[in-house]
This record gives sequence, structure tokens and C-alpha cells, in this order.
Amino acid sequence: MNIIRFLDASSGKIQYGERLDERSARLIEGDIFAVYEATDHIVEIAKLLAPLPPANILCIGLNYRHHAKETGAQLPKHPVLFIKTTNALHNPGDPIIIPEVAPNEVDYECELAIVIGKPAKNVCRSNALEYVLGYTCANDISARRWQKHGGGGQWCRGKSFDTFCPLGPSLITADEIPNPNNLKIRTILNGETMQDSTTADMIFDIPALIQFLSQGTTLLPGTVILTGTPQGVGFARTPPVFLKPGDEITVEIEHIGKLTNPVQEAIPSS
Ligand code: MG
Repeated sequence: MNIIRFLDASSGKIQYGERLDERSARLIEGDIFAVYEATDHIVEIAKLLAPLPPANILCIGLNYRHHAKETGAQLPKHPVLFIKTTNALHNPGDPIIIPEVAPNEVDYECELAIVIGKPAKNVCRSNALEYVLGYTCANDISARRWQKHGGGGQWCRGKSFDTFCPLGPSLITADEIPNPNNLKIRTILNGETMQDSTTADMIFDIPALIQFLSQGTTLLPGTVILTGTPQGVGFARTPPVFLKPGDEITVEIEHIGKLTNPVQEAIPSS
């Protein structure tokens, strides 16, 4: 099922629905983390929202072979975990804001995002995908100077500015994606393809990530896991490319969807 979260044009409420087209959805009744069904009640979408409010946003760095090489890093022996804080969550179509303190360093990273559907602890690789509710597109927006130097050595600071985690537009349920490690994934900046790869290039595949992250640790329903980005990020290009006001950035993943956001400068605070 193609699940969206949206503002309902008639009631003004936030609803979940099965997407029918750009403007309409079948209302979902129930809890998407328990029992739910799409009803026959068709409503108009006033605005698309990120497909869920995440319980946590866990992220994996350096998880594509060719991306690890372009950064000059060794291939990691274990998954590299960092977090994005939930304030960074952002809706499809809403502008990514370049912070006043990060004017020429903000970069894009297309990523396949996993949404965990039920509590997952000490999960084996062989049944890890049973814990996945579905998949969506993410853009792991990153302020590179804050990531490397300004954040005290921890990536979290440079990855967690407001608007730095666009997610969506749809959550595609896991039954429709039998092999999440065989999907084309791209970033398009102002019409030009910047990243063009496949999730088959991941060093640690999705079952391995769920096994690793769930050791002694409960992955709560609604946990979103960003699974790393392929080669072609802006800072590794010659010359480097950073996002600027007026840009439009799209993450596109085969069978999952297209996540587009404009880019704007911050409005100076008085
Ligand atoms: Mg990333």
C-alpha cells in the first residue's frame, strides 16, 4: 500500500490515507503500527506531510562502497551509526532552509529510509525484514563544516538543523518491496543528476543493519533508519557543489517515490 500522512482539505485534520493520485486519498482507519485498513471514504489532500512523526531517526554513514571511496575513508568494518534529531523532520515540498550559521556548506544525500513497524530487539538477519513496516525517501541534508569541525567531532550537530530531514512523500509497505537492496536511487539538483546508483552498493544491507541496531536495543515502532548515501555528494565533487537559495532538490528511489524540496535562505532574526 502507498500510505501518506496529510492535511485533510475538508476537516483540516492530520490523517493517514492510501494515496490515489496527487490530490486524493482513501482514508485509513486504525493504527498503521497495529491494525489498519483503507476505507471507501475518499478525501482531498490539502497538503502532504512527512509520512510519520518518527520515534527516532537513526542514520548510517559511509554505507555505500563508492561513496566511502569518494570521501577517502576506509570501508567500515561495522556500521557507522549517528542520529538526526526529530526537529529536523521536514515535509515533502517544504523549503530546506540554509542556516545563517552555515551559508556555504549545506549538502544533499539521497537515502532509502526504513520504517520499523513493531518492537525489534535482538533480531536475526533471517527474519529482520518482518519488522519493517515500509520504506520511504529521505534526504540527509548535511552542513559539512558543522559535521566535521563545528560539531566537536560528532556528526549529529551538522546533520540536525531545522528542515534537514525531508522525508516522504509516501510510505510504501514492505510487501511491495521484496528486495530493498535492489533499487535504483538518484539525486537530481535543478534538473541535473548528481547521484545515480543502486541500493545493491550498500556495504551493510538492510537485514544486517536491523540486526546490528537491535542488539540489546529496542527499535521502537516508528523508528526511521536512514541507510546511507551513494557516491556523488556535493562536497566530494570538483569543484564542490553546495545547496543555495533558489535550488530544487529531488531524491528519487525506484518503486518508492520522488521527494522534492526547494531551498531557501534563512530569514534573519531581528
Ligand atoms: Mg547520510
